[in-house]
Amino acid sequence: MSQPPLASFGPPQNAHAHIQLVSVMRRIPVALALWLASILTPLAADTLHIIHTNDFHAHIQANKTDAGAARIAAFASQVRRESGAVLMLDAGDAISGTPVSSIFEGEPIFELMNLMGYDVGLLGNHEFDHGIEKIGTFLDIATFPLLSANAKNASGGLIADAPYWLGDLGDISVGVIGLTTPDTPSLTTPRGNEGIAVLAINEVLPDLINTLRPKVDVLILLTHLGHDNELELAKAFPSVDLIIGGHSHTLVAHPVKVGTTWVAQADHYGKHVGLITLDVDPNAEGRAVRSLSGGLVSADELTALDPEVDALVNHYESQVAERVNQTITHSTRAYSSDELQPILEHMLKVALQADLGFYNRGGIRDSLPEGPISARMIWNIEPFGNSLVRLNIKGSDLLILLSQEQKLHHAADSIDPDQRYDLATNSFIGSHAKLAFGDSVTLQDTGLMIRDVLISHIKDRGLP
Ligand SMILES: [Zn+2]
Repeated sequence: MSQPPLASFGPPQNAHAHIQLVSVMRRIPVALALWLASILTPLAADTLHIIHTNDFHAHIQANKTDAGAARIAAFASQVRRESGAVLMLDAGDAISGTPVSSIFEGEPIFELMNLMGYDVGLLGNHEFDHGIEKIGTFLDIATFPLLSANAKNASGGLIADAPYWLGDLGDISVGVIGLTTPDTPSLTTPRGNEGIAVLAINEVLPDLINTLRPKVDVLILLTHLGHDNELELAKAFPSVDLIIGGHSHTLVAHPVKVGTTWVAQADHYGKHVGLITLDVDPNAEGRAVRSLSGGLVSADELTALDPEVDALVNHYESQVAERVNQTITHSTRAYSSDELQPILEHMLKVALQADLGFYNRGGIRDSLPEGPISARMIWNIEPFGNSLVRLNIKGSDLLILLSQEQKLHHAADSIDPDQRYDLATNSFIGSHAKLAFGDSVTLQDTGLMIRDVLISHIKDRGLP
């Protein structure tokens, strides 16, 4: 290999040609095969290919923008056929986002991921959506390890299969360390997750790097921390070769180089799949990774379908079809997730005849198109199965709650800190408010599913 030694860090030599190829293949799917052929050196002992996804959120069905499980599987098979060492990684939040995941509590997603060929997965925050007992079921179903070095149960034990994965791919030894966002306890339902702790990265990572770095040619962090945090991590731990990230749903068109470490993330919902190629010299004195190139392949370029995965997707989809495919109204316009926030809040307020409705923006997981609106679309907006709760809360506490929103909440200006309010919200917000404010709030759970409340409101009154 005539690659420059690793010490001379600059853009990879083929970066420009690579970008051109990628922009060409965005227009011509046929070019995908050519691109693959150009970067996949058949059976080269010193080349490692990494396929990666993150924040798939159970988007197992193909549609206009999402590749779907069967097309990602066919892509992975194609890469494996055309090259030697391939590692397929998922960076967490594989579940929660569609009716199949909600109704079957995430389990089908891991069955599908087995067939799709994943080698290593990660616990994101959403893997905790059904409580840690259910994570035990996920670990049983998955035939590949699910990692997290920093997620601990109430007795301080590891929740995941393992903190890291070690393996040899041809002559190349690889280590993958899994890290879950420390924000998980505040991002997930407290029910079923009592006593969990997700440790700060600095509490676990330095020791793991000291242990693994001397043993491997390629050291990868598989992380669910968000792109900005992952860039910071690259700065702080320069002996890491590559960070495969997730959580912020960021489209990172090409891996970003920070010092001596590359940082990648592949969008979300299977809209893109990441493919990275590393040239590795296992006999090198210092760092074995000599160069890295790669980028994202978009869903519309993935046309082949894996029949076995497709059959399993259809098996599960057919079981939920009757329940979710009914049209509940016609919309004369499209609504973004941001636009939906006050609309959904109004629906909750009406349902409880409360003073105010509050629907956290982060809990609105999809937008609505113009045209027929199906119940499925509401399930995709609220995949979590939260219930409608009434929260009696002091204005000053409510302002703290609203200040957690990324953008200033539209109701914040009209809240009197000294007044008490009857708030209609979801059980996620309700349970966190109870944890934060204790006896100064009263919480009453109606037991009604938020999505059922929204569906019946829209059926009766349509969209504004
Ligand atoms: Zn996440």
